[in-house]
Amino acid sequence: MAALARSVLVTGSNRGIGLELVRQLAASPRPPQHIFATCRDPEGPRGKWMLCDLLELSSTLLFALADAVNLPSIRGAVRAVGSHLKDQGLNLLINNAGVSSHATLRSLDSREMLSAFATNVVGALVSLLQEFLPLLEKAAKGVGKEGLSCSRAAVINISTKLGSIGLCLKVPEAPMYPYRASKAAQNMVTRCMAAELQDKGILCVAIHPGWVKTDMGTEKAPLMVEHSVQGILTVLANLSQDTSGAFLDWEGNTLPW
Ligand code: NDP
Repeated sequence: MAALARSVLVTGSNRGIGLELVRQLAASPRPPQHIFATCRDPEGPRGKWMLCDLLELSSTLLFALADAVNLPSIRGAVRAVGSHLKDQGLNLLINNAGVSSHATLRSLDSREMLSAFATNVVGALVSLLQEFLPLLEKAAKGVGKEGLSCSRAAVINISTKLGSIGLCLKVPEAPMYPYRASKAAQNMVTRCMAAELQDKGILCVAIHPGWVKTDMGTEKAPLMVEHSVQGILTVLANLSQDTSGAFLDWEGNTLPW
C-alpha cells in the first residue's frame, strides 16, 4: 500500500490524539517521507520525552515548534517546514491541537469563550491554514496530481460531534458552551475552506475522533487512542473528491453539521 502522503504535519502532537497520529504514521509499513510533529511547548507536560522517543525511532520524523495562538511561532514553523521540503510542498496538514472547556451557561465568562475561539478557530485553523496555504498549493500542483486526496493536498480538521448543531439536541448532558460553539465555528470554517480550495486541488474534511481516552477525553472515555487513530488513518486513506467538505467520524460515518 502506498504512503498516505509524502509529507504530513500534525499540530498538538506532544500528547493525546496528535502524538498517536505521529506514532502510527511513523510506524506504518510505508511511512510518509516527512512527518512534522509540532507542539507549542516541548518542555510541557509529557511533551519532551515522548517526542524524543519517537525521534529516535523514526528517521522520517522532524520536530517543529508551533503555538497555534502565536503567529510568529506558526510562521517559524512554516519556514522550518518549507526549508526542509525544499522545492516540494506540504501534502497533508492535520489540525489536531485544541482546548476544551466545560463552562455552562451559568459559569461562562467572555474570557473563557474568547480563549476557546482563539485556539480552536482563529489560531489552530485560520492562522495555520493561511500560513501553510502556499506549501499546500505547491503540493497540489505537483506533477501527475489529479482529483482530491490526502496524497495530493489536504487539510484535516479534528472536530467533534459535540460541535454538530444537528446532533445537539441529542447530547444535552454536555453544555460546554465555549468548546461546542468554537467547534461548530470550526466546522463552518472547514465547509467554507472545502468549497474555496477544491479548485486549487486541496481537500478539506472535518473528523470526529470518537470519545477517546486522553487528557481531554478523560479516563471515562470508551475508546482507546490507538483504536481511534487507526480508524482516522483508514478514513484519511480513502478520502476523495466525493468526500471533500464532509464531516465524518473515525469510522467513516457521515455526521450532520
Ligand atoms: P489533549 O488535551 O490530550 O491534547 C491537546 C493537544 O493540543 C496537546 O498537544 C496540546 O498541547 C495541544 N494544544 C492546545 N492548545 C494549543 C496551542 N495553542 N498550540 C499548539 N498546541 C496546542 O486532547 P486530545 O488529544 O483528546 O484532542 C485532540 C483533538 O481532538 C482536539 O482538537 C479535540 O477537540 C478533539 N477531540 C477529542 C476528543 C476526545 O474524546 N479526546 C473527542 C472529540 C474531539 P499542550 O500539551 O502544550 O497543552
